[in-house]
Amino acid sequence: MLEQDLASALANDQISLVYQPFLEVDSNRIQGFEALLRWQHPIHGSIPPAEFIAIAEETGLIHPIGEWVIREACQAAARWPEHLRVSVNLSVAQFRNRTITIVNTIVRALADAGLSPTRLEVEITESILISKFDATIALLESLSALGITIALDDFGIGYSSLTYLRKLPLHRLKIDQSFVRDMLIDADCAAIVKSVVGLARELRIAVIAEGVETIQQLDYLRQINCSEVQGYLVGKPIPIEQVAGLLEKQLPDNIAMRRQP
Ligand code: C2E
Ligand code: MG
Ligand code: MG
Repeated sequence: MLEQDLASALANDQISLVYQPFLEVDSNRIQGFEALLRWQHPIHGSIPPAEFIAIAEETGLIHPIGEWVIREACQAAARWPEHLRVSVNLSVAQFRNRTITIVNTIVRALADAGLSPTRLEVEITESILISKFDATIALLESLSALGITIALDDFGIGYSSLTYLRKLPLHRLKIDQSFVRDMLIDADCAAIVKSVVGLARELRIAVIAEGVETIQQLDYLRQINCSEVQGYLVGKPIPIEQVAGLLEKQLPDNIAMRRQP
C-alpha cells in the first residue's frame, strides 16, 4: 500500500525537506544545514525517512526522490548567505549502476540553482562503499574535483574500516549520535569520541558530532576540540520558511561583534 502511495507522493506535494543546522563550536555560528526528507501521508500522517527510504530503495523511487532532494536543496541554499553550506544524504541505491547519472544530476542542479559546488556537501554512509568500492571512489573523486565536499555519516557504527579514511576523498566525519548520547555516562564512549576527533584532526578531516542535546555534551566536545556540532541543542530540523528566522536570531551577537571599533 505504502509503495503505491509513495509513487504519487512527490507529484502530490506530500514530500518535503526540513533543514537542521550545524554549529561551529568556536565561533558559535551556524555554518549550514542538512536537508532531511519528510513524508506527510494523507491518512497515516508523518512517516519517518527511516521507514520510507527503504521502500524507495526497493522500488527504485529513490532515483526521482533523490534527484528532487538534490535540486530542492540546491535551490534553497542559493537563497542563503554565501558562507552557508547545504548537505544532502545519498543512499547506496542511488549509486548502483548510476554513477554517471548522479554526477550529471548534481552538476545540473547546481547550475540551475546558480549555487557554487563548494557550498554543497554530500553525506554517504559506509554501506555505499561495500560494493563496487573502486567505482564509488571514482565517483566521489569526480564530485570532489568539482569542489563538492564529502562527509562520512554515522561514523563508528558500520564497519568503520580505516581504509576508507585513507582512500576516499573525505572532507568530514560525522560521529554517530549513539556515541555522543552516551559519552558522558560511559567512559568508553567518551574515549571513542575523543579518539575520533583526534584521528580526524591528524588526517586533516573536519569533524562534526551528531545528536548533541545538552549543554554538558557541548562543553565536553568543546574541551576535546570538536569543531562542529549538530543536534536538538542547536536546532531541530525545520521547514525552509523558518531558516531565515533562525539565522536572524544568531545575528544580533555577530552584528554586535562586528560593530566593535
Ligand atoms: P542522518 O543523516 O544521520 O540524520 C540525522 C537524524 O538524526 C535525523 O533523523 C535527525 O532528525 C536526527 N537528529 C538530529 N539531531 C538529533 C538529536 O539531537 N537527537 C536525536 N535523538 N535525533 C537527532 P531523520 O530526519 O529521521 O532521518 C533519519 C535518517 O534518514 C537520516 O539519518 C538519513 O540517513 C536518512 N535520510 C533523511 N533524509 C534523507 C534523504 O534525503 N536521502 C537519503 N538517502 N536518506 C535520508
Ligand atoms: Mg546525514
Ligand atoms: Mg547521521
